[in-house]
Amino acid sequence: MTWDESQGFAQRWWLSRKLSRFHSGGAYAAGMGVSVSVLASGSRGNSAIVQSSSTRILVDAGISCRETFKRMQAAGDDPHALSAIVITHEHSDHVAGLLVLARKLSVPVFMTGATHQAWSRAVRDATGEPPDTERIEFFSSGRSFQIGDIAVTPFTIPHDAADPVGFTFRAEGIKIGVATDLGYMPASVRDHLRCCDILVLESNHDLEMLRVGPYPWSVKQRVGSRTGHLSNKALAEFFAGDYDGNASYIVLAHLSEQNNHPEVAKREAEMALGTRRSLLHNRIELATQAQAMQPIRL
Ligand SMILES: [Zn+2]
Ligand SMILES: [Zn+2]
Repeated sequence: MTWDESQGFAQRWWLSRKLSRFHSGGAYAAGMGVSVSVLASGSRGNSAIVQSSSTRILVDAGISCRETFKRMQAAGDDPHALSAIVITHEHSDHVAGLLVLARKLSVPVFMTGATHQAWSRAVRDATGEPPDTERIEFFSSGRSFQIGDIAVTPFTIPHDAADPVGFTFRAEGIKIGVATDLGYMPASVRDHLRCCDILVLESNHDLEMLRVGPYPWSVKQRVGSRTGHLSNKALAEFFAGDYDGNASYIVLAHLSEQNNHPEVAKREAEMALGTRRSLLHNRIELATQAQAMQPIRL
């Protein structure tokens, strides 16, 4: 085979792989391939599942144990098949269900030491006792670790918590990036998000809706600050600038119910992605608070 032939072959293989993924949609048998399911997203609770053929990771536990179980079961997933829980930061919309979930499932919970301290303090203040930390595993931002066959890389994000992180997950040749709760998109975060096949990114607020909206001035300042939440506009700037255009799917997440509207967020992302959007690339999905999203499978 000449170089040209092999290039042609590689391209056809790549295209057929993408097409078969696209046409199969949700038709892959459960447990096959790599998938992301956002169970809930927004200021009233965040939770998602990243899974490979053999490993299932719950990313944040911001909705109740009961609701997590309900949403997983509705999607045909068994909560008791979870391998681990990983936590981005200690804000209640990311850990509200953690204590009960960790006890019920008895799976390891991964977080940074500083996040654990802050979370333990909050639990002690609320219940009078620190959490049972039997199965806590600590990680450090920037250092990858392995859960089953999924390689997890935590990276620092700018947010007003003790030691907040985003994650990338790699398994079976697929890379998934998750970054919500960040005031802006620093170069280090943009680097971590390169070459992702699925991106779950915050599109928190529309700047004008936040400005004229119902929040007190101090909260508006917090949300819009460099350690607050990512606006539609800031995300659009990333899409129009450094973003490599690689993702098959982009999930807009952590949308504010007061200061954003799904159609506004989607339109701004679509405009910024411009001609990069195609049948096979940069399809945009919206994660919501009220119900789990259809799993994205690759
Ligand atoms: Zn937060
Ligand atoms: Zn949050």
